[in-house]
Amino acid sequence: MGFNKYNLAGIYKGVQTLMTHTYSVTPLGGIREIGKNMWVVSNGEHMVIVDCGLKFPGEDLYGVDYLLPDMSYVLDNQEKLAGILLTHAHEDHVGGLVPLLEKLNSPPPIYASELCLALLEERITDVEAGYSSLLHPIKGRERITIGSFDVEFIHVCHSISGAVGLAIHTPDGAIVFTGDFKLDPTPIDQQPTDYFTFAQLGENGVLLLISDSTNATQPGYTISEKEVAESFVNAFYRAKGRIIVASFASSLHRIQQVVNRCVEFDRKVAFVGRSMERMTAKAYELGYLKYPDGVVTTLDVLDGLPADKVAIITTGSQGEPMAALSRMANGKSNQVTIHEGDTVIISATPIPGNERSVFRNINLLIERGAQVLYDSRKGLHASGHASQEELKLMLNLTKPRYFIPTHGEFRQMVRHKELAEAVGVESENIFLLDLGDRLEVNAKEASVVEKVTAGEIMVAGRGHGYLDAKELRERHKMVKDGVLFVSCTLDENGHLASLPRIMTKGFIIEDDPFTLYENASKQLSSVLGAYMLKHEKVVLTSDKGETLIQDMLGRIIYNLTRRRPVIVPLVHHLGE
Ligand SMILES: [Zn+2]
Ligand SMILES: [Zn+2]
Repeated sequence: MGFNKYNLAGIYKGVQTLMTHTYSVTPLGGIREIGKNMWVVSNGEHMVIVDCGLKFPGEDLYGVDYLLPDMSYVLDNQEKLAGILLTHAHEDHVGGLVPLLEKLNSPPPIYASELCLALLEERITDVEAGYSSLLHPIKGRERITIGSFDVEFIHVCHSISGAVGLAIHTPDGAIVFTGDFKLDPTPIDQQPTDYFTFAQLGENGVLLLISDSTNATQPGYTISEKEVAESFVNAFYRAKGRIIVASFASSLHRIQQVVNRCVEFDRKVAFVGRSMERMTAKAYELGYLKYPDGVVTTLDVLDGLPADKVAIITTGSQGEPMAALSRMANGKSNQVTIHEGDTVIISATPIPGNERSVFRNINLLIERGAQVLYDSRKGLHASGHASQEELKLMLNLTKPRYFIPTHGEFRQMVRHKELAEAVGVESENIFLLDLGDRLEVNAKEASVVEKVTAGEIMVAGRGHGYLDAKELRERHKMVKDGVLFVSCTLDENGHLASLPRIMTKGFIIEDDPFTLYENASKQLSSVLGAYMLKHEKVVLTSDKGETLIQDMLGRIIYNLTRRRPVIVPLVHHLGE
């Protein structure tokens, strides 16, 4: 075969690809959703993972504890994996790390800030004691080589300390991940987001920006932690009794503020709730939380003090049923009893899906006589994510050639795309990706070249109880219409020896249940009998036989009641 212009063009393109170092980025989570953030960056030779998070289920996922990204793509290419980079210690960024480590044959080094690693260390060494050698603490402005990647970390402000963005330097410019961020010019620790590094990257050329879309629909600027401080001063000034603040255990800036107010207003404070106690102890040890001796104490000591000298910082701002605040609201806490005169401050916005539980707690707390401050408009909470003006500024500073909105529902990603267009990013250079879209990018072009395996894995129970869609459907049916057991006794020929017996749990019927069960049982007996005559080979004790009973009885019950309970056949031979 001679050369023609087509295969010459192919060879030319091949050489060009080699010379242009094509990089690719693939989201395995955190796109068109908030939660389970996970990206894979590849340069052909090596891969790094940016974040590996989990997602908390909505109220419709009965019994599902959390969701994980489908990690098959990483596992299939694990020999190329050079490092895991974590932007910060929120569960939507690190909650999938342990399951990932458990599946990898030989996990690569893990890079994150000192605080992020400190919060994760126990979990990681629980998988394998030797894994402590994988932990590499990094700082903002640190630039290191990971496999064949050149990575620079960038300090950003967020609701947890020790948050970073990062830049992966390529010959065609940097691939920049903002991570979760806000600009906050007046943060509590006086370390604003590193504008300078972002601007410098922009000056040197940013190939691709991947930025946080959480607040892309919020106009203006996200309020600063400093403003939250002022609102707390007002709340402390007015409170006549105990003050109980509920926040995320990881919101260390917020916790620091409340402790500062306690010092100012001469209150002693105790931390309540397992994660709150663990997190604050670790943060104090590392110097991320600072307070003078004697301010932080135990509940026993607080019990002996007048109510206006007492403050408590606790978990449960999301109405999580097992968290300390929910126990207090339900009167089930053996540590803190809510009473008349208490002021409860909920310093967090309910995550979508949690509203009902949060409001239920608020009602219960008010019933017990507490005053509850929870409206974010009162300034008692500030989001950790950048609003529109900050997102535009980030785009202006970095001036990316290509842009991908991430960390948001689709509506937030679309809004973020519009903001990017408004500051001059070319429309066709903005990609609204889907999970598993592998986008190849170089100085000349960017496009989605393939779709890798991606999706979500439902986890229920400790460790390995993965639920599939069929089991989840059964859970829905059980919650909606209950469970119906049907016990069938067979004679020596494998036929029904007597009328099947029906028992139910959680199955609601208006009429006389016994008549209904008898009726259903007779119908089943006759349909099944007729079927057995025609199909002699059916063995009712087999899986197939059980499915047959399920289907037949399901139809009968539906016709009689218009309900679809889960049907559990119990088939056995006489004398068994
Ligand atoms: Zn976060
Ligand atoms: Zn996040």
